[in-house]
Amino acid sequence: MNGLAEAAASFALTRWVSRKSRADFDRWQAGALRHFLDSDLPRAPFYGKAPANLADLPVTDKALVMARFKDFNIHGLTAAQAWAALARDGRAGALTVGASTGTSGNRGLFVISEAEKYRWLGTILAKAAPDLVWRGMRVAVILPQNTGLYDSARTSHLIKLAFFDLTKGPESWRGALEAFDPTVVIAPPKILRHFANEGFRLRPKRVFSAAETLDPVDRPVIENFFRLPLDQIYMATEGLFAVTCRQGGLHLAEDSVFFEFEPAGEGLVTPLVTAFRRRTQIMARYRMNDVLRLSKEPCRCGSPLRCVDEIVGRMDDAFRFTSPDGPILVTPDVLRNAVLKADRRIDDFRLFQTGPESIELRLPPTLPDDAAVAAHQAVRALVEIRKAAATITLVRASLPLETGRKLRRVECRLELAR
Ligand SMILES: [Zn+2]
Repeated sequence: MNGLAEAAASFALTRWVSRKSRADFDRWQAGALRHFLDSDLPRAPFYGKAPANLADLPVTDKALVMARFKDFNIHGLTAAQAWAALARDGRAGALTVGASTGTSGNRGLFVISEAEKYRWLGTILAKAAPDLVWRGMRVAVILPQNTGLYDSARTSHLIKLAFFDLTKGPESWRGALEAFDPTVVIAPPKILRHFANEGFRLRPKRVFSAAETLDPVDRPVIENFFRLPLDQIYMATEGLFAVTCRQGGLHLAEDSVFFEFEPAGEGLVTPLVTAFRRRTQIMARYRMNDVLRLSKEPCRCGSPLRCVDEIVGRMDDAFRFTSPDGPILVTPDVLRNAVLKADRRIDDFRLFQTGPESIELRLPPTLPDDAAVAAHQAVRALVEIRKAAATITLVRASLPLETGRKLRRVECRLELAR
């Protein structure tokens, strides 16, 4: 199949599945998963044979996949070859190599085939903007260069795709983006907010937040500027995991990924994902770093795909303390809410765990002092309730737009201690 046919087939499948009942969907998914376990998974040397059940397979994670990269893809591509390909143009023969952004030593690699690239495109269009496709759409994707997925789409007829490199900074391509006049914009929330702050001349029909956790504090700023509801695409190095529907429900991509959930405390879960439509790099029972809150109610749109209320953040960013009652974990959403609820005027901040017993709260100098003091006290109260031993330092400093790394308002910087 050529690229466009792959994209079209994937588009059709994604739309077809979205109209099933949950019971029919479960049957379809079980069949697709079984086929993957029998036919695709054994081709990766790490597995070698089909398991009786998915649950018989070991749980995997980024450290394991990176340590044995060659054994998780069916072409025997080594991590060294993949890094070399990435340093050139991201091509390794017919394959495309990509990597997650992140601190060096902590980056994840992935490799996909041409067919998978187009399938990904068809899937994302079917979920993100099915109504726009037939009228022709101009999609602006603003993400770090090294994601590797997007080049393929530029040539298609129905869709014009333009890619803007986040790492070069918005001012370098502002004119080109405005001239492109996109109908769909996909960008990290901090960039969408930057467009609002700087008054970029854009009039899209859909706006998607992607690649970073969407903090509730950014949503109203972006929605007021574009006069549109802000939608989300939840994707990571490991693939596409959830997309907002037209009714605002954030649906898990259960039509290409089988999700298991591990409890992460306080009603939150961490997903284990099995990407049953990927055949080049096999991903099974892979532990994501993200923390989710699952919805209890089905979505109004009628899709059988389960919804997520919130992507709370990364488990890595939970703060860790000792207390008389033993070790304590405080998740990013709890920390974030403590700061934001302290005063309505707070619409940006940074909260870092800088040591085993130290936290730094950064607030811009433009914020009135009483609001800063309230936020400082709110974090202190949260820590005291949990009986954690920690001191909180308040720093008044401007919070510049950083394009070279992901924005994490709540960040645990205890890398070495872990
Ligand atoms: Zn929905």
